[in-house]
Amino acid sequence: MLIKENGSQPSSLGPESNFTGHARRDPIHVADDPSRLAVGAVTFDPGARTVWHTHPVGQLLVITNGAGRVGTWGGEVREVRAGDTVWFEAGEKHWHGAGASTAMTHIAITEAVGGSAVDWLEPVSDADFDTA
Ligand code: MN
Repeated sequence: MLIKENGSQPSSLGPESNFTGHARRDPIHVADDPSRLAVGAVTFDPGARTVWHTHPVGQLLVITNGAGRVGTWGGEVREVRAGDTVWFEAGEKHWHGAGASTAMTHIAITEAVGGSAVDWLEPVSDADFDTA
């Protein structure tokens, strides 16, 4: 059994290579082998979002605060709010982020394959973000 006390894991700023705008990451848990589970909270300031990316075996988002947007490649941008959940299929190219004028926090639940839980791609353009 492992208890991680609140305040024991430092926050970090999402790097520019993976995020547009200001996104604060608060780790919750990254499991050791044989578990492949990775869980973390991300808080996006208004306008902030991930770059396009995929996950090898999918990803679950639980929106815990605010209102934001999610988009899939070739699909429409959707608004999401606290209490919503979003499932992305394995390999589905997508992004997630805040609203244009509202912050959004989600918990991201992801499984790694071969030590990697995400493949980062190109930034989401302002035009793609603003189609909501
Ligand atoms: Mn994702």
